[in-house]
Amino acid sequence: MLMQVETRSLKNAGTAESLTVTDITEDASKLDAFDHHERIWLGRDEKRGLTAIVAIHDTRLGPALGGTRVWPHESFEAALTDALRLSRGMTYKAAVANLPLGGGKAVIWADPATDKAPALLDAYAEMLAQLDGQYYTAEDVGLSLADADYLRERTRNVSGTTIGGSGNPSPVTAHGVYLGLKAAFAYRNGHEDLTGVRVAVQGLGSVGWALCERLHADGAKLIVSDINENRVAKAVSAFGAEAVSADKILSADADIFAPCALGAVLSSETIPALKAKIVAGAANNQLAEHGDARLLMDHGVLYAPDYVLNAGGLINVAGELDRDGYDRDRVLKALQEIPATLMAIFERAEQLGRPTNDIAKDIADERLVNN
Ligand code: NAD
Repeated sequence: MLMQVETRSLKNAGTAESLTVTDITEDASKLDAFDHHERIWLGRDEKRGLTAIVAIHDTRLGPALGGTRVWPHESFEAALTDALRLSRGMTYKAAVANLPLGGGKAVIWADPATDKAPALLDAYAEMLAQLDGQYYTAEDVGLSLADADYLRERTRNVSGTTIGGSGNPSPVTAHGVYLGLKAAFAYRNGHEDLTGVRVAVQGLGSVGWALCERLHADGAKLIVSDINENRVAKAVSAFGAEAVSADKILSADADIFAPCALGAVLSSETIPALKAKIVAGAANNQLAEHGDARLLMDHGVLYAPDYVLNAGGLINVAGELDRDGYDRDRVLKALQEIPATLMAIFERAEQLGRPTNDIAKDIADERLVNN
């Protein structure tokens, strides 16, 4: 089916002189990842190299807010599936964190290393401006703080910028992940001391690196992997980390696995190889399937649901909407909700014998329905 979207929308829209923004909700609704999304927009500008999907999942709690990912997915369908999954995750993230925001996310189907020319960002800024009031974006994988600033100079629907905003959310996200990871460790071990605890960190980007800094300061032993060899070399020298290849990080001899790269790393194929007994990381959509959380539970792994743990970035940009203006101290205080919520989820999951992500979803659904 999606090949139809691909050929029809991409061909028709792509021959235009400039940007076209098309509603592809009906086509997208045939995909498995579609989950009652409110609206899916496709922005195309062939001249300026833009193919962008903006997925608006649920705005019952507030306007849709979520970052823009720039990634060279293997097909348009893969990019669309990613946008659908990520935007749904944002709805749950905002609901569990009790924020007045809805779920949305964008994917620009392009290689951030080679395709992200100013013209592409100009076209994307025009698309965002056309969606004024529906969707607010921010940084994500492949879209840097400098890119967000560039967009913000052209349209107001961008948060997490240095132009009247709170700046890069990644360090705040990392801090929330760190607090949540410690809570998970404490839940299992009865104390928070990470000295000598082996943490396998997958992905040494903005969040993964800042997480490593905190874990290293606490005396944790780091095992790291990244497809970018320079980052790995830097981590070996800065933290005395042990480097492993990208395909070995899951089976590394670690106490905690912290996925901080892309999603779908935990699946029925990979979970049996996992050595760590705790999964606590920043990556969105870590589970290939919702049911994989039960598999983790059956393997005795405590899973900190990704969107609960990585809500720091969203809590940070939500701080920009505060009536009294953005206040970093207030945001850092609000991050304490992350370990508190996680502890409540772990306890409820254990009492009921249910996977932690089912409990997190229940909490989100309650907030969405009772809003
Ligand atoms: P980033 O682009 O700065 O870093 C991602 C890193 O992962 C890069 O260094 C990349 O080389 C590496 N990577 C990619 N594929 C890999 C693989 N197969 N194995 C090992 N490393 C690989 O992104 P980020 O901002 O640090 O975000 C990391 C994750 O956290 C993403 O899933 C993102 O959606 C999620 N997240 C980020 C924020 C935020 O504030 N930045 C907030 C919430 C969630």
